[in-house]
Amino acid sequence: MNERFADIELLRYEVPGFASLPLRQKLLVYYLAEASLLGRDILWDQNCRYGLRIRYVLEAIYTKYSGSKDNPDWQAFVVYLKRVWFSNGIHHHYSCLKFQPEFSKEFFLTEVNKLDANLLPFESIEELTEIIFNPEVMPKRVNQADGEDLLLTSSCNYYAEGITQAEAEAFYAELKMEFDQERPPMIGLNSRLERSSDGSLYENVWHSGGLYGKAIDRICEMLEKARQYAENEKQKVVIDKLVEFYQTGNLKTFDEYAILWVKETESEVDFTNGFTEVYGDPLGLKASWEGYVNIIDHEATRRAKALSDNAGWFEEHSPVDERFKKKECRGVSAKVISAAMLGGDLYPSSAIGINLPNSDWIRAEYGSKSVTIANLTRAYNLAAKDSGMREEFVINEETRQLLNTYGDVCDDLHTDLHECLGHGSGQLMPGVDADALRSYGSTIEEARADLFGLYYIADQKLVELGLTPNEEAYKSQYYSYLMNGLLTQMVRIEEGDQIEEAHMRNRALISRWALENYPKALQIVEVDGKHFVKINNYELLRKAFGELLAEVQRIKSEGDYEAARQLVEKYGIKIDAELHHEIRERYQKLNLAPYKGFINPRYELVKDDEGNITDILVRYDEAYNEQMLRYSLNYKTL
Ligand code: ZN
Repeated sequence: MNERFADIELLRYEVPGFASLPLRQKLLVYYLAEASLLGRDILWDQNCRYGLRIRYVLEAIYTKYSGSKDNPDWQAFVVYLKRVWFSNGIHHHYSCLKFQPEFSKEFFLTEVNKLDANLLPFESIEELTEIIFNPEVMPKRVNQADGEDLLLTSSCNYYAEGITQAEAEAFYAELKMEFDQERPPMIGLNSRLERSSDGSLYENVWHSGGLYGKAIDRICEMLEKARQYAENEKQKVVIDKLVEFYQTGNLKTFDEYAILWVKETESEVDFTNGFTEVYGDPLGLKASWEGYVNIIDHEATRRAKALSDNAGWFEEHSPVDERFKKKECRGVSAKVISAAMLGGDLYPSSAIGINLPNSDWIRAEYGSKSVTIANLTRAYNLAAKDSGMREEFVINEETRQLLNTYGDVCDDLHTDLHECLGHGSGQLMPGVDADALRSYGSTIEEARADLFGLYYIADQKLVELGLTPNEEAYKSQYYSYLMNGLLTQMVRIEEGDQIEEAHMRNRALISRWALENYPKALQIVEVDGKHFVKINNYELLRKAFGELLAEVQRIKSEGDYEAARQLVEKYGIKIDAELHHEIRERYQKLNLAPYKGFINPRYELVKDDEGNITDILVRYDEAYNEQMLRYSLNYKTL
């Protein structure tokens, strides 16, 4: 069972392929991973200026506590600490609202008084008590409410106390004038705005020798070690530039680094390390610290390559009209990666896709690196398997077995077919405007790619290519796709609302079209007051998907706006209120945690008698609390 508390469930992710990497690459991963953990305290301080001190006191109580474990105050205290760890501070990671402790102030003060006074290197315990317990103090980390002073009402630590929104905005408006307007640096990104004794504002820059300098120096130390094992010259230069940026804090250097990083696409191990996303600043200027390391997923990349190498064959054999087929067909070769370490603002809650850098002009001139993190997705899928969703929504045991056996392989494969071939297939007729389908364009485009995947996942060719294990496997994808499109995707929509998002619309469109036009292939049946998808004929269903693919490709190729509108409006948007209510009720009874995050793997050095590193092992055995306490001890920098 995964660990759960409050609204959180913790997952683990595996790092496939790490064990078989040559030692040199393992060392590169290892030192980059160390660098991703050493910025943790920066983020804690950015989130709240009391964050590090509060963490220190809470952990001291947690490790020294000798009272009864049955004490409700203790139990509530443990949940509170776990939530604080998860959020890297005292505010909820998603809603930004301050946690209200469910243990008493008396319990807290009693336990604090038991601690060795030498363990508490500061006298402000009354102040910390007030911060933790008084709901009026620092109620929200990032306030975005229109009409209020966003700085005075946000408790994040990017601006010194008392600086108003108007002051900060005026300061940055003036500063911006000093820079190149066409290729502006990310102004304000790496500093805290402070007030000097004469009342004027200035930036206290995060760099070596400056604010957060101690943490930054240790990060640089690990980057230097990683550099020795870099895969190529380009990667070395990337690391050198990043270190130079950390040393100087110069934002022009940061842009140079971002350009070098985006152009370095050859290495199998890649990383992000630094001040990156600006969601934690109500003014959207200052970036929270994050770090992660990734490794190419060879198996998934091989799959993607097998498809794109055969792109011509798939195009030739597709059920669409000859006129709409591409003559020269090249698949998109996607690089699929696995996370090897998550740190800072990507830990424990993480994105599963990342697209960087954020600078608009660099993206326009040099492009960006976009990755999907396959092993995190896999961990989510695994959790979904245990969630009770299949017990509740799959019609019978036989079908559940089918999903449990082939579900993951076919899910990944459908995504590959969608991304590597589906979007790239087909062509527009001469003179047709690419935007002819207007607001229906994205739903039709997603439907086209999904249908391409659904049609081909059942093809003998995939068994020949070794991508599906047998001629049965595709059925798992057909069932889960239709169950999602007809029923379960509705759980994410509020009652009374309609379907808005393009991917959800496309799934509803495909599923409901098949249901209406091929009643012999599938039905929705009612058993004991609950509705289920029932598939009667999988071969016929494939025929249905082929027929709709041909029609959707025609609509796209000819720019037939009216047909697109009718298809989307008829099948993709509206929701049956009664069915919606039933599905949501069944879902809510499963009592699933709305938020998930990850426990990192642990890397263990193997040394010979002389102390030389001979191997690095990856371990998945650390408990959440153990990991958090170890990080606080070993990666304490501030
Ligand atoms: Zn797509």
